Amino acid sequence: MIFPDYHLHSSFSSDSSADMMDNIKNAKENGLSSICITDHYDIDFPVREDEPEMDFQLDHEAYYKYMSELRDKLAPDFDLRIGVELGLMHESKDKCQSFVDEHPDYDFFISSIHVVDMLDPYYPEYFSDKTEKEGYLRYFETILENVKEYDGYNVYGHLDYILRCGPNKAKYFDIRDYYDVFYEILKTIIERGKGIELNTAGLYKGLGFIHPHKDILKIYKELGGEIITVGSDSHDAKHVGYGFDIARDMLLDMGFKYYCTFKRQEATFNKII
Ligand SMILES: [Zn+2]
Ligand SMILES: [Zn+2]
Repeated sequence: MIFPDYHLHSSFSSDSSADMMDNIKNAKENGLSSICITDHYDIDFPVREDEPEMDFQLDHEAYYKYMSELRDKLAPDFDLRIGVELGLMHESKDKCQSFVDEHPDYDFFISSIHVVDMLDPYYPEYFSDKTEKEGYLRYFETILENVKEYDGYNVYGHLDYILRCGPNKAKYFDIRDYYDVFYEILKTIIERGKGIELNTAGLYKGLGFIHPHKDILKIYKELGGEIITVGSDSHDAKHVGYGFDIARDMLLDMGFKYYCTFKRQEATFNKII
């Protein structure tokens, strides 16, 4: 086993049709004996008129019931963990916090930004009144606002997701343009006992590298950050465990020795081998 995959979607997510059992089958075929499913839940997501089905709501009662029954059925041969990728907006942070507080039985919460100033940067409108650099900075500043005022998560998801959305992606990305904001983001995450994820979707979504960019991960290392999970952000079962050998080499090269797994939101540190 390299890493259990800690960022996976199934058909409980609006933007995934991955069959849960296919996720598990592919995990097993890739040599994984544990995964954590993290379906989307974006409270108050601004639904677009042209894509009404993309509301990113989660029928969390049905989800938890299905997942916990499946977990019990698969044990002890396969260790299924139950998580949620909670899309955070400033406007909904109290609702997100309440959801997390009311659900201590979930194993793992990723906090991610998919919406900034009520706009989804996946769509070009986000950049219509900003330069690329301004758009990137606004996304990172929004993360900083969130981590300073919100605790309802174990790891922060795809910190530089925005680099996938800009017109030139990461072509002109220079950490010096964003160093101060990342220093503050990562310092705050560490001080609050939270972590970050390595998200390998960057490898198969046209970025060519794992989120977050190595220069961001370097700041995390220098600040003493230790809590890291690894996930593929798979929305299609074929991506389960994608690029984990590359993630392992990257972590070891940078001096990280452990990755984390979570049960009822308690971290376990596991040696990277
Ligand atoms: Zn996400
Ligand atoms: Zn995701």
